[in-house]
Amino acid sequence: MRGAAVNPGARPDRPDTPYSLPERIGRLYFRVALPMVAASLLVGTVGASPAAQGVIGALAALALLTSALHVLLPTPLHDPLRRLFPPVTIAFVAVVAALSGPGGLRGDPLLLSVVLLLGPGTVLAWTLLFLDDARMGRLTGLGLTASATLLLWRWQQAGLQPTLTGNTPLLMLVVCLTVVLYGAAFTDINRRFVAGERERRRDPLTGLLNRRAFDEDSRAPRPDGQALAVLDIDHFKRVNDTHGHTAGDRVLRGVADVIMDVLAGRGQAYRWGGEEFVVLLPPGPDPTDLTVQAAELIESVRAEVARRAFTGGQHVTLSAGLGFSPAGEPLQAAFDRADGALRRAKADGRDRVVLA
Ligand code: GH3
Ligand code: MG
Ligand code: MG
Repeated sequence: MRGAAVNPGARPDRPDTPYSLPERIGRLYFRVALPMVAASLLVGTVGASPAAQGVIGALAALALLTSALHVLLPTPLHDPLRRLFPPVTIAFVAVVAALSGPGGLRGDPLLLSVVLLLGPGTVLAWTLLFLDDARMGRLTGLGLTASATLLLWRWQQAGLQPTLTGNTPLLMLVVCLTVVLYGAAFTDINRRFVAGERERRRDPLTGLLNRRAFDEDSRAPRPDGQALAVLDIDHFKRVNDTHGHTAGDRVLRGVADVIMDVLAGRGQAYRWGGEEFVVLLPPGPDPTDLTVQAAELIESVRAEVARRAFTGGQHVTLSAGLGFSPAGEPLQAAFDRADGALRRAKADGRDRVVLA
């Protein structure tokens, strides 16, 4: 529920969803890193052999074309492009490697330095591009490592002297594999981070959103009005005192299930505190419509809770207060009004919905 106004990283196709970390890395890679790579490749063609110029030119063209496609294509097509790019480049490097060797396409020291300089960085960049998909990240990193190592080995077979001392293909292999491992670690950190973010906003007992999520969501700017209900189970302490806290927990889960079933995706439900819940109904422009719909939904929740026998045979009722929050007003004010209506529902005898 984050609005585009407060989120400069919002997606044009889905303004309420910010770009994920992998998407941000992808955008930076395709829009900034790739054009820089293409420019440095083109500078590298000065003074190179004609064969090397052909290979470098083709690589630079591939990089520029992909950057241009990323800028021109609509956002939903960025992901297919991101997935297509690694196999195309791996195939390109493997084909150059296959054509190289004695009697074939000869590399030169310049081309060798280009591959050595770009290789590990490219492997890292691509592993990071697949932060959300560990398997794809590892496959891409390993594919690039293998094809680039093969290329360097073929050039050495053809008699090309590496400018670096020692066994250059082995060096390339070790550096790239290290980079792939780092990439895999980053992927794992990202996965845990995403899972942790989800957990942070969930109530472990009922699976509903928790108080922290409500506080965050209620601060988001709202371009439309919205109805809000505060629900409280009646005499819940008696359930604990008579049947024990485990039975009480089962009733809490049961009431949460009823709320989710009745809402069926219309709005958000939060466990606000012990046996208190908040329901945020979908926003809209017409206050009367919204209030009528909200009253019907919350009345259905009340009736279903009163009707149902929860596991263990317990029957409970609940009281609710309903408030309306006009566009632009902080949701906290509507919460206070709904809470006041809830107190009236309790005072008037419980098991009822009262409008603020
Ligand atoms: P009222 O109709 O006025 O709301 O009465 P009530 O008994 O529902 O309200 P009260 O505030 O006196 O009691 C709420 C009880 O909810 C007290 C507390 O032990 C219980 N409770 C709060 N959180 C949990 C929980 O996670 N599990 C269980 N089993 N009980 C909880
Ligand atoms: Mg209470
Ligand atoms: Mg209560």
